[in-house]
Amino acid sequence: MDNSPNYQRVMLKVSGEALMGSRDYGLDTGVCRRIAEDVKGVLELGVQVCLVIGGGNIFRGIAGAAAGMDRAQADYMGMLATVMNALAMQSALEKLGLPTRVQSAIPMQSLCEPYIRRRAIRHMEKGRVVIFAGGTGNPFFTTDTAAALRAVEMECDALLKGTQVDGVYSADPRKNPKAERYETLTYLDMLARDLLVMDAAAISLARENRLPIIVFNIHEPGAFTAVMRGEGKFTTVI
Ligand code: UDP
Repeated sequence: MDNSPNYQRVMLKVSGEALMGSRDYGLDTGVCRRIAEDVKGVLELGVQVCLVIGGGNIFRGIAGAAAGMDRAQADYMGMLATVMNALAMQSALEKLGLPTRVQSAIPMQSLCEPYIRRRAIRHMEKGRVVIFAGGTGNPFFTTDTAAALRAVEMECDALLKGTQVDGVYSADPRKNPKAERYETLTYLDMLARDLLVMDAAAISLARENRLPIIVFNIHEPGAFTAVMRGEGKFTTVI
């Protein structure tokens, strides 16, 4: 059987919460290391990888707004949180010997490169992992939308959304044992059934640009590599 992947370049979206591990806040470096190992496995298949990491483990704009802050101001704080996560992931990847570049939508030259589309593509062609920080650089957006946007800009073959479970279910499988996992869904299914795996803006952008979304369990070691080979459990949204 031919196990070679059907993908040349993919985007992996990891939520900030995924990096918390069993903590209530912040980062678990062990989780960062484990995800980095999975990224390494995928690179070894010959697939180019870029990443968008959320910031929800540190700060969410909507929570700041609920606590009385100006929403746009709070969203900028959320974007800064994604930069911290990106630097942590860069460190984890580099410890495994993987050349990595962070590019931020909000320029921060002392820490990382500014976002330059053609340069990011060039990095990946040279085998470097590119982490896109700072979301889209605009308040009122999410890192899901940033992941869809950058994936389209990078001409990725798929957007991999790493979640807590191995796909999209009819109900929360951790609460409802009768919940069923979908093998495939359409973008419109996701929007119409309000399946909250990604926000509507991200799904619409993927739909308009025919970018497949693959939902899989980020906490399952080796799952990212398996998905690239078409093995294991996941849900494809096309
Ligand atoms: N954010 C933003 N614009 C963007 C991306 C993110 O304003 O393009 C802010 C927003 O406040 C958000 C926070 O950054 O709550 C963290 O991102 P997100 O909630 O998407 O992280 P995740 O849920 O993936 O951890």
